[in-house]
Amino acid sequence: MTTAPAQDQRRLLDVQALDTRLAQLAHRRRTLPVHAELEALEARRAQVDDQLVAARTIASDVARELAKAESDVEQVRQRAVRDRQHLESGHGSAKDLQGLQHELESLGRRQAELEDVQLAIMERAEQAAAAQQALETEQADLAVQAERLVARRDAELAEIDSEVAAVTAQREQAVAGLDAGLVALYERIREQQSGLGAAALRGRRCEGCRLELNPTDLERIRTAPADEVVRCEECRRILVRVPESAS
Ligand SMILES: [Zn+2]
Repeated sequence: MTTAPAQDQRRLLDVQALDTRLAQLAHRRRTLPVHAELEALEARRAQVDDQLVAARTIASDVARELAKAESDVEQVRQRAVRDRQHLESGHGSAKDLQGLQHELESLGRRQAELEDVQLAIMERAEQAAAAQQALETEQADLAVQAERLVARRDAELAEIDSEVAAVTAQREQAVAGLDAGLVALYERIREQQSGLGAAALRGRRCEGCRLELNPTDLERIRTAPADEVVRCEECRRILVRVPESAS
């Protein structure tokens, strides 16, 4: 049989209330909505980062294609310039000059085709640049949002932490000088009973498991010495008799 001064048993309820408060604060700390918001934001950021890598690859591929198309057009254009100069100089046989004339016509058609190709690539280059730009803008926006969210999260955590520190200090005061055996028993039960080691007997009800005690147990508890540490028959928690307990 464990015994502890009745006064200590009642003060144990104050310790329990503070421990419950600390458990609530720890739960709130873990489950702040800002955690989920940050997680979703970080997922979107990772997605945008990947999309941007892909968009930059496309843009640089199209830029290379465009440079090639420009050089193709330029080659044909220079060839035509040389042919035209040759033609204008009037050197060569009539057959040569006729051949040059044909080549110039075919170069003209070729240049027009290549310029169409070039135009199509330029359109794609514009689209690629616009896509890249949009992703860069989104990336920058998300970075700003993330910074704000982190600041908000840190502020919310700091607020909870300062409350935890205050409650912890109160708890240290509340537990100081209490019967050591009683506190050890309380800690052991609290670990097994999801944080609740001691409960008041209010009326006929154990406030730990919320069950009503049967008349036999109630009578035994009622007649037990005040310094006997009694336990709930249902949940085995320390049952503290308070003025509102049934007698
Ligand atoms: Zn109980």
